[in-house]
Amino acid sequence: MEKTIIIGSGPGGHTAAIYTARANLQPLMFEGFMAGGVAAGGQLTTTTEVENFPGFPKGIGGPELMMLMREQSVNNGCTIKTQTVDKVDLSVSGGPFKVFAGNDTYETHSLIIATGATARRMHVPNEEQLWQKGISACAVCDGGLPMFRNKPLVVIGGGDSAIEEATYLTKFASKVYLVHRRDELRASKAMQKRALENEKMEILWNTVMLDVAGEDVLTGVKLKNVKTDEEYTLEATGLFYAIGHIPNTEFLDGQLETDAQGYIVTKPGTSQTSVEGVFAAGDVQDKIYRQAITSAGSGCMAGLEAERYLAEKGIE
Ligand code: FAD
Ligand code: NDP
Repeated sequence: MEKTIIIGSGPGGHTAAIYTARANLQPLMFEGFMAGGVAAGGQLTTTTEVENFPGFPKGIGGPELMMLMREQSVNNGCTIKTQTVDKVDLSVSGGPFKVFAGNDTYETHSLIIATGATARRMHVPNEEQLWQKGISACAVCDGGLPMFRNKPLVVIGGGDSAIEEATYLTKFASKVYLVHRRDELRASKAMQKRALENEKMEILWNTVMLDVAGEDVLTGVKLKNVKTDEEYTLEATGLFYAIGHIPNTEFLDGQLETDAQGYIVTKPGTSQTSVEGVFAAGDVQDKIYRQAITSAGSGCMAGLEAERYLAEKGIE
């Protein structure tokens, strides 16, 4: 019987691991094996430089940062299994809970879920070749790079994220084109106003992207107006997807309360889920900030809350 099991190995999972290990809970982490389409270590393993994580004034490579976090978890006493959790049994509120991975079943008094979310991509024909060479799914992360400064940039999507990311990019770009497939934005009225009033932003309504152009780096996007059927290439050095994320919650099979999009619902200001003894941290419960530092912060909360929960139950 484990005291605590952590599922997921991004900044959220590793921060929870460091805190629970230092509280002598001997955490067991399932870091996943290409779970949700990303390697162990999470979304940051898919990027190059991380320039906004405190403590690294010159920036740090995403994979390197995650290797350091993993090392810190292990050094503090966390055991890590490179396995994906297939399912869980949370039917007894307050635990113990069952975790199933491969042919094995594990039992635990508390559970921390930090399985992250996967950014939706469009998978147009030349996307793979230019991914991270002008194409990104995170404007706040990559928008400040020199290749995007004073250049035309494209954001795809019509929700709050799209407006937020496009607005952010107007600080660097010569112009930002917001490409939206319909004639009405999904974003809140306040966000819409912000977009419409921004002189550096132009909304291309009823427009879909057919492909991306460029050899070594992105040089443009191929667009089509679905009302007129006109097809054209728009010059751009940056393309940012803001077409939503998919939280990695399928393995829960509806046993925790989630919102309409599948994000785990936590009690405001805590990491507590709808099942006592189960905590959630990181992007799997956060559709607004989605940053390494906020994931790490909520991982800390989950670790501390798991420790207090176990102490109250007399499990030291
Ligand atoms: P994730 O990093 O998503 O990790 C979750 C892990 O859990 C994954 O390894 C996954 O495989 C694993 N997992 C999922 N399901 C299971 C399962 N069933 N069993 C076991 N394991 C499982 N943020 C910044 O602050 N700065 C940046 O510069 C930055 N750049 C980014 C660049 C890109 C290209 C992307 C996509 C994101 C970037 N972000 C950046 C956002 C940041 O990566 C995320 O906010 C952060 O990684 C979320 O951490 P997390 O711990 O919630 O989960
Ligand atoms: P949403 O699901 O709200 O919006 C996704 C957008 O992408 C939609 O406009 C959708 O178009 C478009 N889209 C989806 N798939 C495709 C595709 N294949 N091709 C082209 N366009 C596509 O996701 P968000 O990430 O914007 O927001 C998620 C949640 O987070 C929301 O609840 C939002 O309110 C919240 N949020 C709040 C913020 C804030 O308050 N500051 C900031 C960011 C997010 P269509 O409209 O046609 O379906």
